[in-house]
Amino acid sequence: MSLKTVKFGGTSLCDADHFRMAADIILSDPSRRLVVPSAPGKRSKEDTKVTDLLYECYRLSREGTTEAFDSCYRVVRDRYCAIIKGLGMSFDISGELDYVREAILHRSGRDYAASRGEYLNSLIMAKYLGFDFIDAENVILFGDDGTLDFARTEAALKDELSRHERAVIPGFYGQMPNGTVRTFSRGGSDITGSIVAAASGSDLYENWTDVSGFMMADPRIVKGALVIKEITYRELRELSYMGATVLHEDAIFPVRQAGIPINIRNTLDPSAPGTMIVGEADSFDKKHIITGIAGKKGFSVITIEHHLMNSQIGFGRKVLEAIEENGLSFEHLPSGIDTMGVILSTAAIAGKRERLISSLTHSVHPDSLSIEDGIALIAVVGRGMVKSKGVAARVFRSVSDAGVNIRMIDQGSSELNIILGVDEEDFETAVSAIYREFVS
Ligand code: ASP
Repeated sequence: MSLKTVKFGGTSLCDADHFRMAADIILSDPSRRLVVPSAPGKRSKEDTKVTDLLYECYRLSREGTTEAFDSCYRVVRDRYCAIIKGLGMSFDISGELDYVREAILHRSGRDYAASRGEYLNSLIMAKYLGFDFIDAENVILFGDDGTLDFARTEAALKDELSRHERAVIPGFYGQMPNGTVRTFSRGGSDITGSIVAAASGSDLYENWTDVSGFMMADPRIVKGALVIKEITYRELRELSYMGATVLHEDAIFPVRQAGIPINIRNTLDPSAPGTMIVGEADSFDKKHIITGIAGKKGFSVITIEHHLMNSQIGFGRKVLEAIEENGLSFEHLPSGIDTMGVILSTAAIAGKRERLISSLTHSVHPDSLSIEDGIALIAVVGRGMVKSKGVAARVFRSVSDAGVNIRMIDQGSSELNIILGVDEEDFETAVSAIYREFVS
């Protein structure tokens, strides 16, 4: 029988109604046998995620009064009790809630406190579905350095899963070698889902969230942007790096290694096919050629001019050494005959500008050197670009027809992307223009 690991995000499990929708989705497909829930998320814009409440409870347990802690913990308690009540269950979770209260107050660390959001939600989900509960503490194992020990985790998961037909495994946390609970970084339930899918040999990792997949462009810039039907892991990495996020970055590796596709789905629109993230894809969307557009503001460009730069051996190395010595990594290196540009994140160079200028001046003695902020980078990504002529020309024409001055151009040698640098105030206009050219 085929096997799917299904992960539900916090907004998909924020209250009883959403819980029921998630459960209906799980039960409507018998291959959805392994379930990884997040903690209850926000029910409205003003609401607070249970994970954030638990971090606050932990803080109050150390820095506040017991009364302040209890009033915060009461909100957590009420969230779970409301879910159980709304689902019409007779499950008594008060013993668990009391235990967690005591543990946070007197014994455990910050990660333990945060992890209880997923733990408690998974207990309820397992009961509601009639699935077994597997505590992530016993199967997601970290090494002494705090990173996942995949070999031990895989062995523990395989062993445990062999005893369960259907199970719920909380996302976000696992155990350190000394027995304490450790969490992944925020949004880490995605990683748990990916690990479970890989270790169980699932055919598919479904990641259920509150959007219908990856959009071809940021819907805040392009209203009604289309959903990407199929994207490769490499394209996804390019788009995510440039700010398009739906999935935790570290969630890709385990399933990618195991050759398992990820399907991003929308709990509120279960019939929508969502986005399929695959290893390789022979075909591409001939209608659009590009897969997606993403971008970010907040970059600076260092422009270094030096007469006869192109004939000076080692010039580029010295520039990069100066960048490295200042603990910086660069994004792009657009260069001309006598000029070299280095694009870096503006936030990263904060507080280091003067030192950077002096290291560069000292090492390459430039004719001129300037740092200009306010650059936005836009990545046009698509595996179809390799096989199609004139894509770059269309990108540049559309942007310049929209009255935008292109400050930098870089095409990855894989021909998977074209990167443009524009002034920040032109960012939205440029993204919309490229979208219109290729999609609408
Ligand atoms: N609940 C955790 C967070 O809010 C993990 C997750 O939702 O994936 O970051």
